[in-house]
Amino acid sequence: MADVSARFPWPGKYKCAISLTFDDGLPSQLRVAVPLLRRYGVRATFYLCPSGSNWAGKLRPWRKVAEEGHEIGNHSLSHFCSCNFPFSGRCLEELTLEEIEEDILEAQRRLESLIPGREIRTYAYPCYQSYVGRGASRKSYVPVVARYFLAARGVGEKPWPNDPLRCDLHYLWSWPAERMSAAEMIGLVEQTLMKGGWAIFTFHGIGEGHLPVSESDLEALLEYLSWREEVWVAPVAEVASYVAKRRAHRQARS
Ligand SMILES: [Zn+2]
Repeated sequence: MADVSARFPWPGKYKCAISLTFDDGLPSQLRVAVPLLRRYGVRATFYLCPSGSNWAGKLRPWRKVAEEGHEIGNHSLSHFCSCNFPFSGRCLEELTLEEIEEDILEAQRRLESLIPGREIRTYAYPCYQSYVGRGASRKSYVPVVARYFLAARGVGEKPWPNDPLRCDLHYLWSWPAERMSAAEMIGLVEQTLMKGGWAIFTFHGIGEGHLPVSESDLEALLEYLSWREEVWVAPVAEVASYVAKRRAHRQARS
């Protein structure tokens, strides 16, 4: 990607955008990530699956997280992934577009009832996978997601951030952050700054649980982000909303 900062103006003093996203509502996110984000004044996006019989009770702490200014996003109800994973029950290769749509919409109803008055505006593809069916009958479910959401997060290649003028808002690239060192994450932010792009990091466990990053690496990243003034750190919905408006504005002028 060539330097887009000349052709895409980020708001005010900012020269690029970074979104930090956390998946699956893991306990270490509530216990470690949320207090760290508070300490460094950084707002993030948390993608939740409101599943299980006690989903409302289990997810109640996230209401306060939303009140602190973080975004709560939809990560589907059943977290369907490829049948090729050994842990899969029902799985993407066996599903229809109608079934995946119903699963996402039930998650949406539940999340919106959990956090009243707050619209759920973005989606994260479980396991980053965005299809149903297999072989000749395999279909993308990105168009289903695009009907209901402002934006959605998938996975992409390093070190390429999203180009705000060219990326698909309904399959945004993100970088899985598990086992990354602070130096590696900070290096990727510096490259994003150089390119004027929008980078999204995906976190799971913090210091424990699946796909973990260490607490000290996350803290060092947050400390750096709170100091690096040209970097706009905001939830996915806020950056997506800005990008969509700028694109509409450009189109109206051309
Ligand atoms: Zn997940």
